Amino acid sequence: MSGSELTQAVRQEALRLGFAACGFAPAGPVSGVCMETLDRWVANRYHADMGYMERNRHLREDPTQLVPGCRTLIVVALNYYPKRTLPKEGYQIAYYAYGKDYHRVVKDKLHQLLGYIKTLAPDVEGRAFCDTAPLLERYWAVRAGLGFMGRNRTLIIPGKGSYFFLGVLAVTAELGMRHEADSSSPTRDTSGIDTLKDDPVACGDCKRCLLACPTGALTREGIDCRRCLSYLTIEHRGPLPEGMAQKLGRRIYGCDTCQQVCPHNRLAQPTEEEAFDMAPEVEALTPQEWMEMTPERYRQLFKHSAMERAGYEGLMRNLQR
Ligand code: SF4
Ligand code: SF4
Repeated sequence: MSGSELTQAVRQEALRLGFAACGFAPAGPVSGVCMETLDRWVANRYHADMGYMERNRHLREDPTQLVPGCRTLIVVALNYYPKRTLPKEGYQIAYYAYGKDYHRVVKDKLHQLLGYIKTLAPDVEGRAFCDTAPLLERYWAVRAGLGFMGRNRTLIIPGKGSYFFLGVLAVTAELGMRHEADSSSPTRDTSGIDTLKDDPVACGDCKRCLLACPTGALTREGIDCRRCLSYLTIEHRGPLPEGMAQKLGRRIYGCDTCQQVCPHNRLAQPTEEEAFDMAPEVEALTPQEWMEMTPERYRQLFKHSAMERAGYEGLMRNLQR
């Protein structure tokens, strides 16, 4: 099978597995401007307490250090836009956390994709990633032609929006643009651009996300996580910083505001992935039941859910502010 045929077959299988987009990027060092942006972001302490962002810089800079022998990054996007959203007057949970832990769902599909590749090319080796390694997923998604970086720092897929989980399969085969004439491949040369920054061509004059962010966390230099309600309600441990609890409104886990206002998301279609549906017993919780939740009930309701991340203490802190 030629590289071109294998590329087309992999793309088709990725779509059959439920991914909304699949692209290919040659593995190698990321652009210098991208690393400079990342370094500035870390130097500004915008990563808050995510100390792991200070480590393994060399692996982030070059995925062939992470996966020796890898020649192509297959980048995929899985839609999580919910079929039904929670009523506006009730507690709000970020859409991505409505259902099962996406790391498992995405990686399971990527392992299936690798299994498929091996049926066609048995010598190909690969490793699957979904927020599980020092890899600049959004950078590689842009390089693979999936979309562009919005001012809200999400990957926006033209015609589909930004409610997508990104996954990467690093493989030893040479696939992608070198082998295909594909209209979804980037028409601009993205090799030198700073894909960690917003793309002025794609966002134009729009500033909706910057204006809508309740805390001013979106800066020219990237998201200041110390002020981002998504970071604070999920990753942050201990009490919320002063002034932030008042900004939460009805949010108890994450924040979707900078995506909800984005005009690109008017085109978002509900996911067909049942794993991302909210469990009926969670959807039915009353405000009182949320407030009185015991650790046992929490474990029962959120085992293997994306909401496990904040832990019981984190959730109760967000509720009882
Ligand atoms: S997730 Fe919320 S707080 Fe964070 S940058 Fe977006 S709008 Fe601002
Ligand atoms: S809201 Fe506007 S500025 Fe923000 S990411 Fe979407 S298009 Fe870009």
